[in-house]
Amino acid sequence: MHVVSTIKELQILLAQHRNNGKNIGFVPTMGALHHGHLSLVTQAKNFCAVVVCSIFVNPTQFNNVDDLTNYPKTLENDLSILNTVGCDIVFCPDSNELYPTKCQLSFDFGYLEKIMEGAFRPGHFNGVGTVVAKFFNIIQPDHAFFGQKDLQQYAIIQLLVNDLSYQVQLHCCAIIREQDGLAMSSRNIRLNENQRTLAPTIFQSLQTGEKLAKNNSTLASIYNQMTDLYVDKNIKLEYYKFVNAEDLTEITTLVKGQKIAICVACYIDDIRLIDNIIFNA
Ligand code: AMP
Repeated sequence: MHVVSTIKELQILLAQHRNNGKNIGFVPTMGALHHGHLSLVTQAKNFCAVVVCSIFVNPTQFNNVDDLTNYPKTLENDLSILNTVGCDIVFCPDSNELYPTKCQLSFDFGYLEKIMEGAFRPGHFNGVGTVVAKFFNIIQPDHAFFGQKDLQQYAIIQLLVNDLSYQVQLHCCAIIREQDGLAMSSRNIRLNENQRTLAPTIFQSLQTGEKLAKNNSTLASIYNQMTDLYVDKNIKLEYYKFVNAEDLTEITTLVKGQKIAICVACYIDDIRLIDNIIFNA
């Protein structure tokens, strides 16, 4: 496994592989890797001869300075586990390598940046779009792998690829969970024992929402029950939304058979966690 930190080194390696007719898969991450990330690398290995994983805590996508400062960093461990799943190249640039100057361009993702994560994290998707566009330009991957865990981010990247004609095939990979249902996340490392005990409430609320929706409860009644659940557990709910799973437009009435996503964001004390579930009503 090659570990490189400059664009130049990376492009020399990739040119050699391309000259040998090998296709390139790309898995972007911010490090503090867990089995969710590794599942993306494993999936990439199934499609591609060469897999590049980036580890970069992208400052431009953090709208909260404390969140950026507290973001876990475990590079040594990340590298050793990437080696075990057959990753070929790890790209760990520093900020100056990717942002030699302050970006002047910005994206407008329209509706998608006005709801849920976009509404609560102003500027977040502009930062995500910027860094992913940079990676796509630098790496020119044939395939790129993202998690359903960040469902809205996946929709944003799809828009970026369509509108800017990136020649990359996107893959949305299933959410990997702990045994008690908590979606794996780099931020879970920060949960103390008590917070960790509360955290499975998030997935429980999604499963309950799905069950109630399938049993013909109204959206208003589901929202009320879920709000009460979060209040009971002392978890600060930011949003709990039923959206169309394809275009993420908000659903106002449940229609049988419709493909739905429930998306949730909440704070357990100062730790922000998100999750979602997709099902047919
Ligand atoms: P991050 O390091 O949080 O930016 O995540 C990097 C990639 O891993 C993103 O595409 C995430 O959606 C994906 N990811 C994060 N957590 C999970 C999980 N529990 N299961 C599957 N993919 C995940």
